[in-house]
Amino acid sequence: MDKNHQMWQDLGMDLETHDQLCEALPAAFGDVFLTSNDSPDTMDYFYAVAADIHGLRPAELVEEQKKGRKIFGTFCVFVPDEVILASDGIVTGLCGGSQFWVPEGETVLPANTCPLIKASVGARLGRTCPFFRIADMFVGETTCDGKKKAYEILGEDVPMHIMHLPHGKRPQDMQAWSDEIRLFMDQAGELTGKPATLETLNDSIRIMNEKRRALARLYECRKNENVPISGRDALLIMQIAFFDDPERLTAQVNRVCDELEQRIADGKSVAAKDAPRILITGTPLAVPNWKIHNIIESSGAVVVCEENCTGTRYFTHEVAEDNKSVEEAIDALTDRYLGNINCACFTPNPGRADDIVRLAKEYDVDGVIDLNLKFCNLYDTEGYLVERRLSDEGIPVLGLETDYTDSDAEQLRTRVEAFLEMIAD
Ligand code: SF4
Ligand code: SF4
Repeated sequence: MDKNHQMWQDLGMDLETHDQLCEALPAAFGDVFLTSNDSPDTMDYFYAVAADIHGLRPAELVEEQKKGRKIFGTFCVFVPDEVILASDGIVTGLCGGSQFWVPEGETVLPANTCPLIKASVGARLGRTCPFFRIADMFVGETTCDGKKKAYEILGEDVPMHIMHLPHGKRPQDMQAWSDEIRLFMDQAGELTGKPATLETLNDSIRIMNEKRRALARLYECRKNENVPISGRDALLIMQIAFFDDPERLTAQVNRVCDELEQRIADGKSVAAKDAPRILITGTPLAVPNWKIHNIIESSGAVVVCEENCTGTRYFTHEVAEDNKSVEEAIDALTDRYLGNINCACFTPNPGRADDIVRLAKEYDVDGVIDLNLKFCNLYDTEGYLVERRLSDEGIPVLGLETDYTDSDAEQLRTRVEAFLEMIAD
């Protein structure tokens, strides 16, 4: 038995079913990422992590657990990583992006639940994802109804802390969220035995801001008229950012950016001069969901920006540094997380349409694809307002709905190609 199999067995995973996933992933990865010669050389790190996605990082987490550290599994960009790091905890994102896990999720959830939730629950119940086995605590949040109820099921055999997210940004909402952060801070400190201090909070804020700056630098490169990196590669970096060690991730993203900035200086582009530039907005694209990027980019366009939680919403806005008290640090976290993330769970949520219009201009896009996961009522409904606003601004927009299956891939391709033709005219 190889090292990975031994670890997976020790984690109580269903080895037989998991082997089926391991067999399917390399082909899926190869089809999307290894068909282009234009990827930056510095993507080597991210390809290596992706190629051994259930081996490399899980093994590190298990080693850290042996030293007594605790792993916190999170599902949403509202959960502040800084709080976990400040208590010497480790964060790993847990959102599932594969159809492989969906049927298992459907054994307990209504079929008309979004695939991200079904896959996440299926990955845990089916014992086919090491990250879900390793986490000492899950941290949920009250964003959408599907997640709220799914957390009750997920929390049956793993400690679950729920952060109650207000659905507005009024002063009383800000106060409520800072209370939630304080509560979570207590919980995290209790689990790790190392409560956060002002010093550890300020340190973790710095670490996360450096990560945000590196990701912002990556996105800045994508604004150039010569696009130095494909949307597929950029998406893979974002997806890995959710579970990798933050300091190593920052170093690796900056390494990619050095190469991209050189490419920009050399006038090198991964896309044809007349390739339509596309911004994607909508629901998150959890690993290994590369479907829509692959369809768009194999149809002759290039994705230059994602306004979603595996895109700009993850890194935009820094947390104020060098706070003078724990209370001030909590206020700074509240401002960044509640004040600046524009998720469709808020009502009203005009900031998101403003963001999309601003980003469409900054990235000089030819069109926007508003992509929603099937059965996500929040983003589907908000799509009406977003698409109307984009039309008012004269920005072409195509609304698409999909899930994790490949059954609609050809239909999506037809619609994307028609849209690309339309915006090329
Ligand atoms: S879309 Fe909303 S609920 Fe989903 S991960 Fe992003 S912030 Fe959280
Ligand atoms: S995509 Fe929509 S339904 Fe699914 S978890 Fe996110 S907010 Fe909830």
